[in-house]
Amino acid sequence: MATHNLLLLPGDGIGPEVMAEVVKVADWMGKEGIASFESETGLVGGAAYDAHGKAISESDMKLAMDCDAVIFGAVGGPKWDAVPYDVRPEAGLLRLRKDLALFANLRPAICYPALADDSSLKREIVEGLDIMIVRELTGGVYFGEPKEIIDLGNGQKRGIDTQVYDTYEIERIGRVAFELARKRGNKVTSSEKRNVMKSGVLWHEVITALHKRDYADVQLDHMLADALGMQLVRWPKQFDVIVTDNLFGDMLSDVASMLTGSLGMLPSASLGEADKNGKRKAMYEPVHGSAPDIAGKGLANPIAMIASFGMALRYSFNLGEAADMVDKAIANVLDAGLRTADIKGNATSTVSTVQMGDAILAALQKLK
Ligand code: NAD
Repeated sequence: MATHNLLLLPGDGIGPEVMAEVVKVADWMGKEGIASFESETGLVGGAAYDAHGKAISESDMKLAMDCDAVIFGAVGGPKWDAVPYDVRPEAGLLRLRKDLALFANLRPAICYPALADDSSLKREIVEGLDIMIVRELTGGVYFGEPKEIIDLGNGQKRGIDTQVYDTYEIERIGRVAFELARKRGNKVTSSEKRNVMKSGVLWHEVITALHKRDYADVQLDHMLADALGMQLVRWPKQFDVIVTDNLFGDMLSDVASMLTGSLGMLPSASLGEADKNGKRKAMYEPVHGSAPDIAGKGLANPIAMIASFGMALRYSFNLGEAADMVDKAIANVLDAGLRTADIKGNATSTVSTVQMGDAILAALQKLK
């Protein structure tokens, strides 16, 4: 059995609490002979700033570059609000994304039937929802140059951001989406605003050509980003995989996340380019932040973090069956009525972070 090398970066706030539950799952998989992991633990965010004066040390960056997958908790908190901008906690996260060249951000939005009433939409609209938003993460308007505020000298200033995409950037994110769709519902919806943006015209052209050339077996639809935002809250179950640029992906994935109930339920993966062996640099993290308001109280929901580890099993280690088991164990625990405080709904009692982790372990044991 291959041994997979993990770098664990728990970070700040509830990060270490939810990471501890992932460690239990990884250890269990090792013990049961399902998969073998070796892990190192590093510092990121405020924790790294306190130890090294920067948001991630060079030695931890080297570990991140060399490992098979980074498992990331969360960073930030009021303690570090006043630290210099370039060493603020979030700088550690951005450095990881940049140096590992993680251009593809995968955010599933899954609504477990047991939590359908926690969504802001009606049960029939969200129950059983399972969509995947693929967001381009390293290009577009967040990075394009020029990016500046210039003084026009007449009492006016001008703020400039530049939306820019090259063919190869669109093609490689398109490939990620089509490949994913083949393993799911076989349908991709590509989204841009080609009616008003030249980068959207190119996006549409490149995705259409890529589809025709290499992925004609996958169903492809195009939808303008504003219309897609509307459709996401009207009838989200029409989608399987959505692929879009950095800016639209940022907004649309946040909209989709709210369909599912709680921030504590949402995992994510960020992937880099495949090397000649098909291996990608990768980082897995919950969508939520460090939740300083509940840190240290045992209130954090570990499901987003454990489901992020499940994504690592699926996308970095090709352990689809083990990943399915993790997802099923989470669903079973929710079906049995276990709730952390954030997903309490109408439940009469709640469990702690550790109790939720233990229940997921017990559910895994039953499934095995
Ligand atoms: P947050 O996601 O930390 O918290 C928002 C709300 O959701 C809070 O009420 C929190 O208690 C709750 N929440 C979040 N995760 C939860 C979980 N697993 N279980 C139960 N409840 C949960 O966002 P915020 O409050 O805007 O930011 C707090 C800090 O986190 C800030 O310093 C921010 O910069 C940072 N942040 C970091 C990341 C990251 O590391 N990727 C992402 C977002 C925010």
